[in-house]
Amino acid sequence: MSKTFLVVAETRGGSLRQVSFETISAARSAGGADTTVAAVLLGAATDAFVNELTQYGADRVYTVAHADLEHYNPQAYFAALQTVVQTVQPDAIFFGHTAIGKDLAPQFSAELGAGQISDITAIEVDDSGQALFTRPIYAGKVLEKKAFTALPWIVTVRPNNIAPLAIDATRTAAAEAIAYPEPSLQTIIRDVVRNTSGKIDLSEAKVIISGGRGVRSADGFKPLEELAAVLGGAVGASRGACDAGYCDYALQIGQTGKVVTPELYIACGISGAIQHVAGMSSSRVIIAINKDPEAPIFKIADYGIVGDLFEVVPLLTEQFKLA
Ligand code: FAD
Repeated sequence: MSKTFLVVAETRGGSLRQVSFETISAARSAGGADTTVAAVLLGAATDAFVNELTQYGADRVYTVAHADLEHYNPQAYFAALQTVVQTVQPDAIFFGHTAIGKDLAPQFSAELGAGQISDITAIEVDDSGQALFTRPIYAGKVLEKKAFTALPWIVTVRPNNIAPLAIDATRTAAAEAIAYPEPSLQTIIRDVVRNTSGKIDLSEAKVIISGGRGVRSADGFKPLEELAAVLGGAVGASRGACDAGYCDYALQIGQTGKVVTPELYIACGISGAIQHVAGMSSSRVIIAINKDPEAPIFKIADYGIVGDLFEVVPLLTEQFKLA
């Protein structure tokens, strides 16, 4: 029987987030060829994104545009998405495993009485057509595979794990605007001020240079910032560095910080505590720089450099400048 999967797309800074394309790809893999993958976009102005969502694989795009949806407001977003869900009656809803997805997904799981599989990093479909979702558990030490036993499904997709579909510029948009239900809101978001403005968002960064207590001071982050600038990457940190006051908690990576999955993660002066590893172990290539050859970070690193970060990092920066 044909199914409809609904993907909740997100924008940031005037562009669609990469995770939206990855989530369309995930929905496409999990459904069979007879599954319609629809995307929904909520925002103040949504029309400009319809073509791109279509070209990345959405068969249909639903939009809800209203000033209340300019910034993420849980009540407004829930009401708008509820209207879309009532219209579309999807067999599954896919969210990015982002702050917004993590907030909305369980609400729809409760609303629809649906099972939820969160933070998936891979999908396999067996011979019977059953989709198996892989997700890391126990701070990334174990990968479990789960399947749903009944529709509807709620799924959240970890960013940077599932490749988006190849862009197809010949696909044409089938868009439908759905009216905003205008709920009476208990809070209104007037403005969002980001303290990372102008810098690359850690959760989307392809390269992260991360510093731990080994950087010894706020100034100790400077060589890391220089390397990040040369590689077009972002700077992250361990909680050890944040707790010591060397950097803002917005940079913290780990179990109680951000979960990141860049192509390249360079850990500088980070011991590799399990709570830190939980946030970065899915990085494609991990390089550890630590002066202690017994540091646990070397167990999960693809490449290890035993040495003083204040000598090694500037050398790397010089070499990458030449490359
Ligand atoms: P340390 O463990 O002190 O390691 C510093 C490292 O720097 C050492 O290995 C040392 O050899 C090396 N070093 C020192 N000087 C140099 C130098 N000049 N050159 C090269 N290497 C050098 N931690 C997180 O990171 N993220 C989390 O989200 C997180 N959540 C937590 C949640 C809970 C409930 C708990 C209990 C802990 C959590 N932690 C988290 C803390 C975690 O357990 C560690 O304490 C923390 O990750 C240690 O940070 P660190 O590696 O920077 O510091």
